[in-house]
Amino acid sequence: MIPYGRQEILAEDIEAVVAVLQSDFITQGPAVVQFEQALAKEVGAAQAVAFNSATSALHVACLALGLGAGDWLWTVPNTFVASANCALYCGAQVDFVDIDPRSYNMSVDALAEKLRWAEGAGKLPKVVIPVHFAGQSCQMSEIKALADQYGFALIEDASHAIGGRYLDQPIGACQYADITVFSFHPVKIITTAEGGVATCKSKQLADTLARLRSHGVTRDPSLISAEDEGGWYYEQIELGFNYRMSDLHAALGVSQLQRLSTYIERRHEIKQRYDALLADLPLTVPWQHPDSHSALHLYPIQLHDRAERRRVFDDLRQAGIGVNVHYIPVHTQPYYQKRGFAWGDFPQAEAYYQGAISLPMFPTLSAAQQDEVVMALQKALA
Ligand SMILES: *Cc1c(COP(=O)(O)O)cnc(C)c1O
Repeated sequence: MIPYGRQEILAEDIEAVVAVLQSDFITQGPAVVQFEQALAKEVGAAQAVAFNSATSALHVACLALGLGAGDWLWTVPNTFVASANCALYCGAQVDFVDIDPRSYNMSVDALAEKLRWAEGAGKLPKVVIPVHFAGQSCQMSEIKALADQYGFALIEDASHAIGGRYLDQPIGACQYADITVFSFHPVKIITTAEGGVATCKSKQLADTLARLRSHGVTRDPSLISAEDEGGWYYEQIELGFNYRMSDLHAALGVSQLQRLSTYIERRHEIKQRYDALLADLPLTVPWQHPDSHSALHLYPIQLHDRAERRRVFDDLRQAGIGVNVHYIPVHTQPYYQKRGFAWGDFPQAEAYYQGAISLPMFPTLSAAQQDEVVMALQKALA
């Protein structure tokens, strides 16, 4: 089976992890700091804080921006459930903004329209999470202008997008957002097995993220109420979690990060080859926004309708091609339907979902394997 995504683990990755196993630190220690610093440098961020997953990073990012009971968080339906669940962890409420039918990212027009309505209804969001779907940046400059106008905070869910660029800036530099979150799950661009990182500009915000990552506990004299208790002393000043990344995971991340640009180049080669080989087939290849240089986490094709998608999906799986579908719109999940959402609420995300198939896309996909995918697709569509 050719999977839709797959990590590459080289001898140097294994050596890096083994070296940590033989060192004094195996939980959060110097390798985590090294990973945070290397990643911050790579994406041009002032601050980076590592977590045990992107889901944890999203949760703590919401808390650090003050999201709580009575607040609204908006994201898109075309994402993994984690982008919405983070609001509910904080006791806030979730709503969605429909996608643009070409980029499959948050529609700026739909956002602007919903904000006008929400202002009248007294339901403006406190936090909005645009998701850089498939690795392609949302139109952050326009979204940031709306954030300034309506006074909400922005978290970029860049789980798909490390190594991507927007308007000639690396995604993660936080020029437009308060916080950017990356995931290092094995299907993503680079991996730490499980893991995530939040980047931001402000040192104070990074300190809050780091404190919430570790039980809400601090040793910072400026935050502690007691005077000179002793060298052992710490205080818990808020409710935090154990969301720490271990040095084993971080060492893998440091090693993988060195291949980031090679991986992105390779993904673009694979994309160009797919674009050429699929040009004459009755399907839509993923459109690229001119402002964005995508990290190309996914290569989602769009077929005519639900019935054709089902048939082609089954045929490809039968032929040993591990295609997948990204994403079942979050608002249609039973859990969200119980919270009042229904099919029909976000027609663009639903229409996109009905025709979507993600073809195999990962750096070690060979030309022969790609030909096999294309031939199976030709046959399924014949
Ligand atoms: C993978 C993913 C997440 C969650 O990442 P984890 O590291 O697995 O917690 C969140 N959002 C999106 C868009 C993702 O693709």
